[in-house]
Amino acid sequence: MSNIINRRCLKKLLQAMNQEKHMITLAALSKAEIQTWRGQKFFCPACHEQVIVKAGERNIPHFAHQRNSRCPAVHKGEGPFHEKGKLRLFQWLRNQFADVGLETYLQKLKQRPDILLRIGQKTIAVEFQCAKIPPPGDKKKE
Ligand SMILES: [Zn+2]
Repeated sequence: MSNIINRRCLKKLLQAMNQEKHMITLAALSKAEIQTWRGQKFFCPACHEQVIVKAGERNIPHFAHQRNSRCPAVHKGEGPFHEKGKLRLFQWLRNQFADVGLETYLQKLKQRPDILLRIGQKTIAVEFQCAKIPPPGDKKKE
């Protein structure tokens, strides 16, 4: 039986919890490492629904909710640029600061900032923004 369902899903997660309650960031792992994780069960840290491992050729590896998920933490339609940028920023911050969380769900606020940073007593939420630059010659919608 396979946990990998081959269809498009917008409800992406970069991190999920494994059965031992460890947060796993798929995109930070090598392909071989991801292979060893396949077939295991992963859960959304916010809604605790089971999520699916998605590691195709085109997208960066991530977890996906089931189609009919009612997860409160799900973002709609973030593009791959957004995710790559977010991940780079996360990896960079993690090299500078000890306590950095990716897509940490804040139960109290019912929000999921891209990156959550704790420095001393301060907690800083970071939202990654990625503006689309239209291709040259694209003059419509002016
Ligand atoms: Zn969820």
